[in-house]
Amino acid sequence: MICISTRGRAPHVSVKEAVLAGLAPDGGLYVPATIARRPESFWAALRGKTFHDVATALAIELAGDEFDHATLINLVRDALSFPVPIVELESTLGVLELFHGPTFAFKDFGARTLARVMALVNTGADPLTVLVATSGDTGSAVAHAFHRVPGARVVVLYPEGQVSAIQEAQFTTLGGNVTAVAVRGTFDDCQRLAKEAFADPQLQSRVRLTSANSISLGRLLPQMFYYAYAAVQAPRGKRLVIAVPSGNLGNLVAGVMAWRMGAPIDAFLAPTNANDTVPRYLTTGRLEPRRSVPTLANAMDVGNPSNLERLQWLFEGDLSKMRAVISSTSHTDQEVKAAIAELFDRYAYVADPHTAIAYLGAKSAQARLFLSTAHPAKFRDVVEPIIGVPVPLPGPLADALARTKSVQRVTPVLSELAMLL
Ligand SMILES: *Cc1c(COP(=O)(O)O)cnc(C)c1O
Repeated sequence: MICISTRGRAPHVSVKEAVLAGLAPDGGLYVPATIARRPESFWAALRGKTFHDVATALAIELAGDEFDHATLINLVRDALSFPVPIVELESTLGVLELFHGPTFAFKDFGARTLARVMALVNTGADPLTVLVATSGDTGSAVAHAFHRVPGARVVVLYPEGQVSAIQEAQFTTLGGNVTAVAVRGTFDDCQRLAKEAFADPQLQSRVRLTSANSISLGRLLPQMFYYAYAAVQAPRGKRLVIAVPSGNLGNLVAGVMAWRMGAPIDAFLAPTNANDTVPRYLTTGRLEPRRSVPTLANAMDVGNPSNLERLQWLFEGDLSKMRAVISSTSHTDQEVKAAIAELFDRYAYVADPHTAIAYLGAKSAQARLFLSTAHPAKFRDVVEPIIGVPVPLPGPLADALARTKSVQRVTPVLSELAMLL
């Protein structure tokens, strides 16, 4: 697969090169140069297959020209070795649970695949420093995915005091090749700092920096797998609309890429929390990023979603084309709490705040499927008082909470961060 930059002023590269580079040299984001629509027979052949079979088939379609097929099969089996269940709440409403990986959030899909691809591609070269800005779940997924990977080091930037205790414990207690850096600022400050570090020639000459944020194509591609799986599982002949709880829009972009490949999906809903840059953009046609505000669904506290640039590229900058496939609503913390209560009362389903936003989106437009992106135990402080029953903590989360944290602190200026790199 040939990859190009959304800004069109960077050389064409292979998937391997795009994955290693993170950001394109013209400041754009890598995207596949073309996304050919696969024929209906391709999708029909995947019906009834397991998640791992579907994932492998897609991995070979996307990267089979650069990696031998046995390598891809092993990579998918090793990286995505956890279940991907679809829970039916009603005959017309299901939840695709994406939180059964080691850090209990959907970011394990991208992070674990990316870490393995990087290890494959980076043999014998200088050690890599993976710099990642997180509003919560990316940090733990990336830190776990790269923990103890030889030749790699992870530096996690996160907004001090704005991630949950469990999230923080997951990436501040690993030690070894993982450094956690608390930034006095918002997630947007963390993201800006990371971008400045990548753009700094002096730093670049000293450390081999690479990104693992959702700007990395290596994280997006594996997220296409579960859309393909859900699409071929869905009943034939009925409309399939999928609600994707959205922050930085990586998840949505992966879904749209699967749709462009011809996966039988009709439309997407991209509900957000109070950080409503995307729904405002879809309504007014004006992109007006704002400083992010903290909400209960903190992994979606994004005021300036970087993957919007990819989305615009996918729709050739034509807002009407985008509107035909994507709609977006914004939801307050009050609505989120009510949705958590409703899911529990109606279906005995325990949802975290991000999943509750997906449900609210699904309800707003009668989607058949919504994505559950985090295990409710990661947000039990929010969930338990609402549903009135305890949410048991899975063993690995309890272990992380019991370990000692190790954190470096910086203000959001590059010179301070540079000293830790
Ligand atoms: C990251 C995250 C999201 C938002 O996904 P994007 O790809 O950034 O839009 C939603 N829910 C959870 C639990 C997350 O960790």
